[in-house]
Amino acid sequence: MPDAKIPAETVRALSPGSQPSPETGAHGESGAVGSAPPVISLRGICKAYNIGTPIETEVLHQIDLSLPQGSFCAVMGPSGSGKSTLLNIIGLLDRPSAGTLEVCGEETTNLDDRALTQLRGHKIGFVFQYHHLINAFTALENVMLPMLGAAGFPTPAIRDRAQFLIGRVGLTPWQDHLANHLSGGQQQRVALARALAMNPALLLADEPTGNLDSRSADSVFDLLTQFNQEQGTTVLFVTHNAALAKRCTDRIEVVDGHIQS
Ligand code: ADP
Ligand code: MG
Repeated sequence: MPDAKIPAETVRALSPGSQPSPETGAHGESGAVGSAPPVISLRGICKAYNIGTPIETEVLHQIDLSLPQGSFCAVMGPSGSGKSTLLNIIGLLDRPSAGTLEVCGEETTNLDDRALTQLRGHKIGFVFQYHHLINAFTALENVMLPMLGAAGFPTPAIRDRAQFLIGRVGLTPWQDHLANHLSGGQQQRVALARALAMNPALLLADEPTGNLDSRSADSVFDLLTQFNQEQGTTVLFVTHNAALAKRCTDRIEVVDGHIQS
């Protein structure tokens, strides 16, 4: 792969990897729904910014939320209500100022940064409104990235897994195209394939269809639905699109930092 500067946000959301198998990812998990603990469990989560200064503001207040494995939950609510803050905390990209958060049964509040990175990398995938692909890399190379962390170099297993995922999002003919030569909808589908590289238990999608025309938005949403149903991936999907939200199995609304179900 060519050298390129990787944006810090992308690096954080990408993960250390291990040797994957094409269809089940790094861990060979089937995604079957069983007696597993909730994928996420939040109790009394608060988030304040500028703590200890005159402009201290609490933007999330005493959030309780539990999502069982396999749920597909829409998150709606006005701009500025705290949706992204909530997803960043659930995704272990930001720490709460109070409360507890379990991810796949593991209590995270007392974990150090290294342990958080490890847990995030193996359990959580991210798709954002902007695709955050590396333009100097091909579609296939972008999907390989999360799996390269631990291996440090490309292996046939990593390439096979990436090719499988590129096929699942319908982009095999474009796999060797540079990311910035793809359409917006195609770029977001590559981002989705990359998010699923490690076969995460939880996919956090923060307005992934917000920049797309309605046809591309539908195609990304259909893929989310398929991965949810086929792999058992739990999906938390922030959207302003009421029609798409209706098609999710669960819905929550965030208003002024509170959850209204
Ligand atoms: P949403 O995603 O629902 O639009 P956000 O979670 O991005 O809302 O923001 C919720 C509130 O938190 C907003 O009032 C926003 O200005 C504030 N906020 C977000 N990030 C920061 C930050 N780093 N410092 C201070 N305030 C912030
Ligand atoms: Mg937001």
